[in-house]
Amino acid sequence: MNIHEYQAKEILNAYGIPVPRGRVALTSDQVERACKEMGGRCVIKAQIYAGGRGKAGGVKLVHVPEQAQEFGKELFGKRLVTPQTGPEGLKVRRILVEEAVDIAREFYLSITLDRETSRYCLIASAEGGVDIEEVARKSPEKIHLFAIDPYTGLRPYQARKIALALGLTGSVCEDCVELILNLYRCCLEKDCQLVEINPLVVTKAGWLLAMDAKFTFDDNAVFRHREYPDMVDYSQLDPLEINAGKYDLAYIKLKGNIGCMVNGAGLAMATLDVLKEFGGEPANFLDVGGGATREKVAEAFKIILEDCDAKGVFVNIFGGIMRCDIIAQGIIEAAGEVKCILPIVVRMDGSKVEEGKKLLLDSGLNVQCADNLGDGAARIVKMLG
Ligand code: ADP
Ligand code: MG
Repeated sequence: MNIHEYQAKEILNAYGIPVPRGRVALTSDQVERACKEMGGRCVIKAQIYAGGRGKAGGVKLVHVPEQAQEFGKELFGKRLVTPQTGPEGLKVRRILVEEAVDIAREFYLSITLDRETSRYCLIASAEGGVDIEEVARKSPEKIHLFAIDPYTGLRPYQARKIALALGLTGSVCEDCVELILNLYRCCLEKDCQLVEINPLVVTKAGWLLAMDAKFTFDDNAVFRHREYPDMVDYSQLDPLEINAGKYDLAYIKLKGNIGCMVNGAGLAMATLDVLKEFGGEPANFLDVGGGATREKVAEAFKIILEDCDAKGVFVNIFGGIMRCDIIAQGIIEAAGEVKCILPIVVRMDGSKVEEGKKLLLDSGLNVQCADNLGDGAARIVKMLG
């Protein structure tokens, strides 16, 4: 789960990490007023669930309130396309108006979960800012990595080592040690998968400030934080993903033309691999999980059909806990409701498989039943070819 920069900065602030003075605006008049409040010279920042905004024209320095209002008008409603958004971009509905800071140096600092070591990993670089991806590619030695031991936590001397590696000295170095320790505490307590400050800056006056902030919360821990669901900006999410979330289904949008309904993450991966093997390209995959009901299967199937890139559907289900006749009923119900004419290939196995297949073949839908995974993939690719 993601949140906006302005929300991330509110959290950082609560953990004693300094951020620039700012105000979030929902209209261009509010942008103007906020700019006035800030004394005129400020930075206008589009709030979207993606980085790379600076280079895409979503961050701008203005000098007077009229200029701020003008830029606000231009930004609101615009779809901002950055390297992180995909070609269709994300719509700007909120703008952060922030005091303009005179920056002396920019750094990169983040803490993220490293799946390989199963630990939080601290990442820091003295060359932060908008080109951090470039630094990672061209000179990875400039990026400092440090895996945090979960038993001891992050110790002050370790944080100091990192601050020194960034080239900081004196009181700024001590401020940075405190900031890193606070960031780790924040990351733990807020159940983050990622907290990223890029750039962390030293101002010309010698203060440390978090100039940009990104948080990703661990979805599995959201239940522990009652305030999180209200923080989501649904306008930034794929409507089909929102719908899937309501029914506790995992839906992932992809680039091809075959909609995939599967049960279990492992089977989903195998399905995508085998489809590709046969020259197919998945449009999405939807994992209905273990013991789904007929209604849940029907909802899942409808979500796949609503994806206009899907020109056919491949169902690959192993009926262990889940009975194949229930799956078949769900598919038939959903396909009937939305008058589906797309070709469907169903590969299922497990309990009540014969009953399930019979239901499907008698349904009048454009459906084929496959004998195994390879056969199913070949069939759907052929039907669409
Ligand atoms: P993104 O990472 O999406 O491009 P940032 O918030 O990092 O957006 O902004 C891009 C760049 O704009 C920053 O690296 C920084 O140099 C500059 N910037 C951002 N906010 C301010 C500010 N309040 N004052 C001065 N410069 C800023
Ligand atoms: Mg940034």
